Amino acid sequence: MLTQDYVQLDETYGAHNYKPLNVVITQGQGVWVTDVEGRRYLDCLSAYSAVNQGHCHPRIVQALIAQAQTLTLTSRAFRNDQMGLFLQDLASLTGYEMALLMNTGAEAVETAVKMARKWGYQRGGVPEDQAEIIVCADNFHGRTISIISFSTEPQYRAGFGPFTPGFKVVPFGDLRSLEAAFSANTVAFLVEPIQGESGVHVPPAGYLKWAKALCEEHDVLFMADEIQSGLGRSGKLFACDHENVKPDVMIIGKALSGGCYPVSAVLASADILSVFRPGDHGSTYGGNPLACAVAREAMKVLVEENLIENSARLGDYFQAKLRAIASPFVQEVRGKGLFIGVELKHEAGGARRFCEALMRQGLLCKETHEHVIRFAPPLVITQAEIDWALARIEPVLLGQFEGAPALALA
Ligand SMILES: *Cc1c(COP(=O)(O)O)cnc(C)c1O
Repeated sequence: MLTQDYVQLDETYGAHNYKPLNVVITQGQGVWVTDVEGRRYLDCLSAYSAVNQGHCHPRIVQALIAQAQTLTLTSRAFRNDQMGLFLQDLASLTGYEMALLMNTGAEAVETAVKMARKWGYQRGGVPEDQAEIIVCADNFHGRTISIISFSTEPQYRAGFGPFTPGFKVVPFGDLRSLEAAFSANTVAFLVEPIQGESGVHVPPAGYLKWAKALCEEHDVLFMADEIQSGLGRSGKLFACDHENVKPDVMIIGKALSGGCYPVSAVLASADILSVFRPGDHGSTYGGNPLACAVAREAMKVLVEENLIENSARLGDYFQAKLRAIASPFVQEVRGKGLFIGVELKHEAGGARRFCEALMRQGLLCKETHEHVIRFAPPLVITQAEIDWALARIEPVLLGQFEGAPALALA
């Protein structure tokens, strides 16, 4: 079967809720993937930062196989011998006292929202059903009804109402608007410390620190969604670490399991997480032994292979080299660590055709929103592999490809 045959199957039998590049991947190892026609590509997306440890990391795969042959699921009706060990490692890595385990990122965000509301009611002062959570414009926190209820992206919402109330939107990076948004009913502020899906937007320096201070002043929870920015992607364990901010609630997922299994978590103090009583919340697969064994090994790989330091060092290198390309199309190169966005000028006619050109050169990138190319390779990447990538990125950003927009730009 050729690429076109697989595309045909997807299109015939699958809902069309994505518009992927037409590359059909059959195998992956580290930063490299191979398609069904034997072409090799350097993956610059890392499954939206879920495969920070690289594709099919041997240690994580081994942990998966060993646990899969031993015990996979008990449900939380019983205990298993993997969850506690993973939770203990997670606490010592992150400095949070406790965690609640879920599967997907969206579920973890939902969990945090439920927790914040209940925490607010239990503290007193917020009348029943009046809790408010402040969120940022251009956020991405997942795709459930409640989460899209506070999205500002029209397409994420169109046709999916009625929506969940209780959210107030403020511009990202704007402290004055945040301060003005607090009310007596505010229970939490939910923010991505670096907005990923909106196009890798880093807030102004000091924003997170002052936002945290405002939350303390108003006695509301500062909740960071680090599902994409966390676990080394930005060159620190958490993007909040760049400003030495410790959120009250930390939400992680994606790379928590190195792309081998869906695992997410809400981290907080024992005091905050204690709002959940038996029966309040749950998930059949949440905290299952297979997930815990895989995620535990994925955490160890992150630390023992110095992937966070690698992200910081090679991220600086990659960004500097990208900035040095004298492209007539590039508006801005931004990011932290190996979490990089290249914003193209609108005259460039959209990032999609640049991503398609990069694909033909052996680099897999995906446009995010219309005009941004995101570069977020697995954190196991080497400098030589970045140089290999740059040798292909440079001509594309200079417009040296078939179908490139005319260089006569305003
Ligand atoms: C991907 C992502 C989510 C949603 O995670 P899913 O596993 O796709 O549900 C939530 N928040 C952020 C910041 C993300 O990048």
